[in-house]
Amino acid sequence: MSGPTPDSRMKPEAVPLPIIEPFRIKSVEPFRVTERAERDESLQRAGFNLFKLASADVMIDLLTDSGTGAMSSAQWAAVMLGDESYAGSPSFLRFERAVRETTGFEHVIPTHQGRAAEHLLFQTLVKPGHVVPNNTHFDTTRANIEAAGGIALDLPCAESTDTQSAFTFKGNIDLDRLATVLEDQRGNVPLVMMTVTNNAAGGQPVSLQNLTGVRALCLKEHVPFYLDACRFAENAFLVRESTESLSGSTARAVAESIFGLADGCTMSAKKDGLANIGGFLAMRDPILARELRQRLVVTEGFPTYGGMSGRDLDAVAQGLVEVLDEDYLRYRTVSIRYVVTRLVAAGVPVVRPAGGHAIFLDAARFLDHVPRSQYPGQALALELYLEGGVRTCEVGSVMLARTDAQTGQEEPALHELVRLTVPRRTYTQSHMDYVIAIIKRVWERRAGIRGVEIVDAPKVLRHFQATFRRLANHQDPQLKIPHPVGQDV
Ligand SMILES: *Cc1c(COP(=O)(O)O)cnc(C)c1O
Repeated sequence: MSGPTPDSRMKPEAVPLPIIEPFRIKSVEPFRVTERAERDESLQRAGFNLFKLASADVMIDLLTDSGTGAMSSAQWAAVMLGDESYAGSPSFLRFERAVRETTGFEHVIPTHQGRAAEHLLFQTLVKPGHVVPNNTHFDTTRANIEAAGGIALDLPCAESTDTQSAFTFKGNIDLDRLATVLEDQRGNVPLVMMTVTNNAAGGQPVSLQNLTGVRALCLKEHVPFYLDACRFAENAFLVRESTESLSGSTARAVAESIFGLADGCTMSAKKDGLANIGGFLAMRDPILARELRQRLVVTEGFPTYGGMSGRDLDAVAQGLVEVLDEDYLRYRTVSIRYVVTRLVAAGVPVVRPAGGHAIFLDAARFLDHVPRSQYPGQALALELYLEGGVRTCEVGSVMLARTDAQTGQEEPALHELVRLTVPRRTYTQSHMDYVIAIIKRVWERRAGIRGVEIVDAPKVLRHFQATFRRLANHQDPQLKIPHPVGQDV
């Protein structure tokens, strides 16, 4: 018999193994393989806004990881066990148990998604003029604080602004600034939030040490500490990987430690709940929970279903167990890191280190000949779709620029990024290789890529609705090219 002896397999020069998905595929959802000319037309019909594309015209959809994951066979089985009773459904009891076992928080309030949990919490705790600090507020979090009359304050750590710094915990909050705010605003801070992982800062993890620091400051100032826990499992995994003292812990144990520092959390089950819809609020304070349940009945539903159906409650209960599976978390993070490593090796400007749920291209560097007033992020996102049917999301000045109230002048966003958000368990490693190849092709022909201008845009959340036009060249914004975006100059 030939083949490797047990000894030769143990040798250090053993062939490295490729990343494999720790699951088999039982049900498939085909997508249509489109041609470039067709994608050209689709872009024009969509006014060069990727949010306006029909998903049927997209091959690899990396627009968001929210609610776009694949459920497991165990979750679909749980869906069939869902009990749709208005009150006292066993689905709620299973959901409640799963949330308690994951977070350690006693009081569990189901909501239809994350922002509904935020709405309930802030409408109850935040009064006009209150300041709510966070490492970085997610946009719905900020909107809900502002809707309650509060001020949403971002205090990201200094390392977070440098896209090329290899610092591991770029999701951290600046503890010195937090301490100053808590002192200066004593009596005016109803809670401190921490977003794990820090979505707006690139899905970067927050260290256990940083969270412990926040805990200490909150205790000292008697301010409640809440987590925006949407990606708690990815944060736990990345923290464990980068913290030597935790190397023997399970991701579940690290998650428990993280939740153990906080008084409660808001959660979107569309992220690390591994479900297509759902969310919750969970906390230790029974008096606050009682008040929140009263509000819940008015806006979401009865306390044993909130905004969810019985079958959704069961899907999330099962999802919360699966999301802490070590093999799943390793495959997910290693696969995202693989894309980043390949792009770095090809010289493509990409945000480092790899975050938990997405890959971010630095479009200002990628298209360094396109001025920021001509939206390099939007221009790059259009090219990725055109080249390979890959839908991504601009996170730059289209989404985040601020307009000066006095002058009407636009102030560009901090960074011009293109986000490739990876849905959970949805795409395979060969899809990731395809995406890398498409990015490299666009990189090769970057010199010919032109900027865009906005033709028409609503005043708020304009990135969803705006329409764009491609510019002839960056010297002359007035000169319009009549032919489609696909024709390279
Ligand atoms: C998605 C998200 C939310 C809001 O959750 P929805 O379910 O979309 O309402 C809040 N915070 C963070 C960090 C998120 O990623």
